Amino acid sequence: MMGRHLDRRTLLQLIGGVAVAGVPRMSGAAVESVVIAGGGIIGANLAYRFAKRGASVTVVERTKPASGATANSFAWINSTYSKQPLSYFNLNRLGIEAWQQLDRELPGDLPLRWGGSVEWYGDEARAKAFREEVRHHQGWAYPTHLIDDAALRALEPHVEPGRVAAAAHAELEGSVDPVRVTELLLERAKSAGARVSYPSAVTGLDERNGKLRAVKTTAGEIEADVLIVACGTDTPRVAALAGVRVPLKESPGVLVHTPPQPRVLERVVLSPVVHMKQKPDGRIVCGSGFGGSPTNDASREAAEQFLSKASQVLPAFARTSIEKVTLGYRPLPQDEFPIIGFPPARRDVYVTVMHSGVTLSPLVAHLAVLEILDGVEAEPLAPYRPARFNT
Ligand SMILES: Cc1cc2nc3c(=O)[nH]c(=O)nc-3n(C[C@H](O)[C@H](O)[C@H](O)COP(=O)(O)OP(=O)(O)OC[C@H]3O[C@@H](n4cnc5c(N)ncnc54)[C@H](O)[C@@H]3O)c2cc1C
Repeated sequence: MMGRHLDRRTLLQLIGGVAVAGVPRMSGAAVESVVIAGGGIIGANLAYRFAKRGASVTVVERTKPASGATANSFAWINSTYSKQPLSYFNLNRLGIEAWQQLDRELPGDLPLRWGGSVEWYGDEARAKAFREEVRHHQGWAYPTHLIDDAALRALEPHVEPGRVAAAAHAELEGSVDPVRVTELLLERAKSAGARVSYPSAVTGLDERNGKLRAVKTTAGEIEADVLIVACGTDTPRVAALAGVRVPLKESPGVLVHTPPQPRVLERVVLSPVVHMKQKPDGRIVCGSGFGGSPTNDASREAAEQFLSKASQVLPAFARTSIEKVTLGYRPLPQDEFPIIGFPPARRDVYVTVMHSGVTLSPLVAHLAVLEILDGVEAEPLAPYRPARFNT
């Protein structure tokens, strides 16, 4: 089982798309055409992968690409300490590998920074728990290790960490510019033959003899063998058109974005006061938690107060202005785990909705191709099926 032991060979097979540890699907005609509802980071990765495999692909995006959760994301690629249990940790770990694969496939093109993350605590009780979290993830073979104050300062020379009771460097992680990467993958998908239609929304399904014939959109009907729903927080409404239940819960997050700055952050930095990263274009994105603060106060005043506090940790904040403050809503399933795959009794509608969608997007695209085009059931997705809400 994937959840029990993840060996290197299985990992490479999964990411390389050579084969997959899973069960071949026994029935169903060959799938040649897919409509992807949603042009966020999930839809863009799907479009790229399906087009590369030679499928007929149409992306239908209601507003414009990367205008949903993707536009408001911190976009940290990680499988760090909150990724529990082991099966979910492994899924995210495969997500990191899938980004590495994509980076090799499109060398130098992706707006992506590697280098890992650093995290620390000054409070002794939290530091004790953090040391245990690090050891626990080390036991799962995650490349992370405790570091001292001097090593932290060497890794991030522009940061003033204050008191450091426990710190760690998680080496594998990275972050992307989620909007630019979405636009780039859609361009690559188009070069491989995909069509990207916007603004146009999926409004219904035309079914014949209980099977999808065409997807109805505000711009007309598109014939398709499979509809892939990648509509972020709107997934419940679109999946409901096919009678599929996808329960989400509300989860707002506020992030503050600066204009481009000289390089002051080398990696994702998670301090007790501020979580922050610097994009390849020099812009700094920060919040009180990596997912954005759990409030929906996106006012300028609150952002200014926050940056002033955060300048204790990154003095450069005292010299920056605010370019924008974003309020985003995570597509967070009710039980907080992804919902991915065919619902029971349907092989013509495929759902993909999740938080950590940036980390998981290239992997989900790989696995969706294997499941939809090759008729395989990918074991890493077994715990995340729509069936758990559709019995
Ligand atoms: C504050 C915040 C911080 C985050 N931090 C991280 C992080 O650090 N790491 C991480 O991995 N993840 C993070 N996430 C989560 C991540 O951003 C999301 O999981 C991911 O962006 C989801 O992408 P998506 O393509 O599924 O959804 P979206 O980007 O929302 O795209 C869905 C698209 O579907 C379109 N649509 C809706 N209805 C229809 C319709 N009927 N027809 C056609 N199109 C339609 C919408 O217009 C939208 O463009 C964060 C999210 C937030 C909000």
